[in-house]
Amino acid sequence: MALNLRFKDKVAIVTGGCKGIGRGCVDIFVENGGKVAVFDIDDSIGETMKPEGPGEVFYIHCDMTKEEQIKAAVEATVAKYQKIDCLVNNAGWHPPPRTIDGFSSEEFRQLLDLNLIGYFLTCKFALPYIRQTKGSVVNISSGAFTVGQPESVTYVATKGGIVGMTRALATDEGKHGVRVNSISPGCVWTPLFEEWAKTVDKKVMDDIKDISILFQILRRFADPREIGMACLFLAADATFTTGEDISCTAGIERGYGLKMQ
Ligand code: NAD
Repeated sequence: MALNLRFKDKVAIVTGGCKGIGRGCVDIFVENGGKVAVFDIDDSIGETMKPEGPGEVFYIHCDMTKEEQIKAAVEATVAKYQKIDCLVNNAGWHPPPRTIDGFSSEEFRQLLDLNLIGYFLTCKFALPYIRQTKGSVVNISSGAFTVGQPESVTYVATKGGIVGMTRALATDEGKHGVRVNSISPGCVWTPLFEEWAKTVDKKVMDDIKDISILFQILRRFADPREIGMACLFLAADATFTTGEDISCTAGIERGYGLKMQ
């Protein structure tokens, strides 16, 4: 347990907080005394989650592609805790790899609904409350945007949209004392990554562990908790930082690396 409770009695929303990176954020906030509303669709996990720490979790079933559910979930959070200090937009998906020829416009629209418009809507409904606390928003983008990940055109487009939206929102919200930042993680070992890795061309990477050796100069995957710690830094400590994207990629952009194609 953290000795110095950096999020004591603060209230956060974490979308997609049942598993993976979102769960890492929930655990870190709860360990630091935070009260965390988790918006997710995995009820079997959500209704039984008991992270360790002095904080607490409030699970709300919320499909992040459904505007009315997002609005209701934000209202339920405020009804329970009377305030929102931080919103972590995280719920997202990565389609299996293919070039643009293999994507339909309808698939792209569905991905936009989750990866970008879901973030937009949660901001829209939560910001009136975040302004009252002079709190912050943390949007999870991806290092895939920075590097232009191959065979991921729709995913990369949504993640670039998140960074752009973060900058524009930061510009608008500064007058309210609200900070808006994003985090671009590299390879984080999560259920999503595990599923995606199974779909990647075997001739490119026979052993998925090779990715971390070839591209991330710390030569390992991130644990979801490490992204959670970056979230806590932005929410609790980085009080003069807004409109920024923090790269948590273990240096994937540095040095000379073998390319995937
Ligand atoms: P994950 O699939 O392991 O976990 C995603 C969580 O979101 C799950 O709890 C799931 O139930 C929930 N979710 C999915 N669809 C939802 C919906 N419609 N409404 C509400 N909740 C929903 O994913 P992850 O790997 O933890 O990724 C989380 C975020 O981080 C995504 O935005 C992803 O693009 C981004 N990201 C991941 C990595 C990585 O290496 N894992 C790298 C960069 C960015």
